[in-house]
Amino acid sequence: MTEDLNQLLRNLPKIDEILRLVEKENPSRRIPREYMVRIGRDVVREIRERVREAGAAALVPSPGEAARRVLERIDLLGRPSLRKVVNATGIILHTNLGRAPLCGEALARLIEVARGYSNLEYNLEEGERGLRYDHVRSLLCALTGAEDALVVNNNAAAVLLVLNSLAEGKEALVSRGELIEIGGEFRIPEVMEKSGVILREVGTTNRTHGSDYERAVGERTGMILKVHTSNFRILGFTGEVPLPELVRIGRERAVPVMNDLGSGCFINLGEYGFADEPTVREAVATGVDVVTFSGDKLLGGPQAGIVLGKRSYLERIARNPLNRALRIDKLTLAALEGTLRLYLDPEGPASLPVYRALLESPDHVEKKARALMRKLKPLESSFEITLKKGVSLPGGGSLPTEEVETVLVVLRPRTLTASRLGKKLRMLDVPVIARVSQEEVLLDLRTVDGGEIVFIEKGLKEIASRENAGEEPRR
Ligand SMILES: *Cc1c(COP(=O)(O)O)cnc(C)c1O
Repeated sequence: MTEDLNQLLRNLPKIDEILRLVEKENPSRRIPREYMVRIGRDVVREIRERVREAGAAALVPSPGEAARRVLERIDLLGRPSLRKVVNATGIILHTNLGRAPLCGEALARLIEVARGYSNLEYNLEEGERGLRYDHVRSLLCALTGAEDALVVNNNAAAVLLVLNSLAEGKEALVSRGELIEIGGEFRIPEVMEKSGVILREVGTTNRTHGSDYERAVGERTGMILKVHTSNFRILGFTGEVPLPELVRIGRERAVPVMNDLGSGCFINLGEYGFADEPTVREAVATGVDVVTFSGDKLLGGPQAGIVLGKRSYLERIARNPLNRALRIDKLTLAALEGTLRLYLDPEGPASLPVYRALLESPDHVEKKARALMRKLKPLESSFEITLKKGVSLPGGGSLPTEEVETVLVVLRPRTLTASRLGKKLRMLDVPVIARVSQEEVLLDLRTVDGGEIVFIEKGLKEIASRENAGEEPRR
């Protein structure tokens, strides 16, 4: 270490001095001194690390500047971190933005149950312990034709639980073309390993035949697993074994067959001009032993994993101690019940936010876009604002090859770069998440509720006026 660097490190702002300045601002009333000291130490440590990295040329902040950083962090602690954003990306089931927004009915159920006590695990008729799944079991069975139903924390948990319950220590046969990864952390081969099941690949990446499964079934086979390739398609010379054929193979050889549907759609999207996503009811009707899918993809509800199937298997799954670790919580259950109840009415699903967005006509999106454009008229000195055609995406690993026509609001900032504007939109009090491409910021109002447009309008006005005043934003 050079003498210069040593000198610099000795001259860093001292923690006591920083804290004295911080206390002068008197935030100690809001945060215990112990936390303040910890934040102060963090800031000093970061400054020291930065100086070590940058060497003697490093800029060392003054004690006042260091105190300001501490105050900023104390301020952030008091503000909610998880909060509402406006999704202007046009990606309807955006996993990073929380997937499906809930419908009013689900929200009402959630608030009622969250606010006080509930009969979560209490049988009111008998006055004794009940089961939490009972609240959605008959709804799920009625809507899908399944014999029995169970719900857990999410679909990854459902897959893990079913594999472990029915095939631990044995082989599960999966087509090579279905060994998929979803969103980075969920990979079928890894989940299988963790569930204690031995993966036995059958077929090839692009083609798998019924005979591949038939040849692979043996003494050690515990299950046949079919995975819906939710987030990609193999095109060209391909072949997969349809579920009914797998069900037949499983039945002839007394091996349970499980289908991980991924999205788990309850309505026939073919009727709306989309590619045929197998509905849950169709999958159940094949006689498959167990089906799993997510609550917050095309179902349009809260994060949950739904397991449907034959009663004898579901009883084994329910008794697995893992089930207790993966169980669904009461708020989710309440929201799920509210969502499912909507499906009893054939017109119901159309009022789910996911389907309102997916089925909204490009003309209607354009109307919202024009309304926003009119409101932004006064900002023309800051942004060039136009409209253009584009596509929205279903997202969330569902309908991978589908694109939905849309109309985009195009913002070309006159002084900022597009990526700076994108960041400024994200840093608003109500963050607006847009698409940023080269020199344009694109707003797709398909995923923006009419009542949310005002957040975009206000946000852009705020950004433009700060820009004109030459101010730096607060954050
Ligand atoms: C999305 C998906 C999962 C994971 O579901 P989560 O509810 O996100 O845990 C598992 N399998 C398939 C096929 C999926 O599409």
